[in-house]
Amino acid sequence: MNCTACTAPLDHAAQLCDACTHGLDVRLAELPGQYLLLASHLRPGAARGDGPVALVREAPLPCREDVLDMRATGGMVTVLEEWRAAMQDARGWGPPACTGSIERRIMAAARGLQLNLDWIAETFEGAGDLAREIRALAGQVNALLDPAPPTLSVGECAADLGGGDICGASLRVPHGSTTVRCRRCGTDYPPSTWLTLATGAWAPAGAAA
Ligand SMILES: [Zn+2]
Ligand SMILES: [Zn+2]
Repeated sequence: MNCTACTAPLDHAAQLCDACTHGLDVRLAELPGQYLLLASHLRPGAARGDGPVALVREAPLPCREDVLDMRATGGMVTVLEEWRAAMQDARGWGPPACTGSIERRIMAAARGLQLNLDWIAETFEGAGDLAREIRALAGQVNALLDPAPPTLSVGECAADLGGGDICGASLRVPHGSTTVRCRRCGTDYPPSTWLTLATGAWAPAGAAA
């Protein structure tokens, strides 16, 4: 007998190992709060330390659709409610009520699954799929909540601010972008210059002329 989520061997007949059961329990407890937190991530950059607003010149997108999708019907609430309904059906119970705000529905569905966790881990035939799907859902939510998406460092700004005073601010390629603009002095660096910047072999235009 093996865990139906992670395939680890089990010493007694069950659907989930202790680790997968515990992980599912923690994620079900955390998801309702994370749903609320997502509301503060609807605007790009809202929760990020992007520096002085005047220096961030790109017009922000009106809304993050990936966050909207997670918060709407079909997102987190539907995954949780469908699993709660499948669990109740397998126990011979009627379908759960899905009423109220999405926040309340998420709380009720997650709580309903948590309250039956012992039975799920021992008996529920869908337990492995449930545990894996909730783990994937939590992974997506955490990625949406991550305040600092990965950026690529390409070196230091080589702009001459006047009189040989080199800017020197560190330059980063924003996630999903091919434009680098120095946040300190506003100099643009197209991709063709990144390698030169990164190797520190930059010759300021003024010095080369
Ligand atoms: Zn497992
Ligand atoms: Zn600069």
